[in-house]
Formats: sequence, structure tokens, C-alpha cells
Amino acid sequence: MSLLSRLFNKKIEEPKGEIPPEVLPLRNDPCWCGSGMKYKKCHQEEDRQFLARKRERDIEAQKACSPVFG
Ligand SMILES: [Zn+2]
Repeated sequence: MSLLSRLFNKKIEEPKGEIPPEVLPLRNDPCWCGSGMKYKKCHQEEDRQFLARKRERDIEAQKACSPVFG
């Protein structure tokens, strides 16, 4: 039971609904999150930071995967 609930908790920890869609709205279009605000007033900056972090992670992952030659 405790193991099961631990697995369950792990699942809940994953962020949900905070990941921007693959195709982002234009600056003056309504935000994808459904707030009704313009994208530039809502998630644009957050998305930019999210994507920047994602890119950094991807680069780190590539570095980790590629073999190192002196
Ligand atoms: Zn938003």
C-alpha cells in the first residue's frame, strides 16, 4: 500500500498544464492557457524562459550522450 501510494505521489508531482504547446500563439492572440489575456501579457515571458531552460537541458543531454575524445 505504501509503495503504491508512493508511485501515485510521484505521478502527481509531474507538472501538468504548465508546458507550452508546440505551436505558440502570436503576441496579440489569446494565450493558450485559456486565461483570456493576450499572449504577450500572459505566458509569453514564461514560455521564453521555459524554452530557454529546455534548450539548456537538451544541450546538456547531448553533451552527456556524446563520447568524449581528448
Ligand atoms: Zn497564459
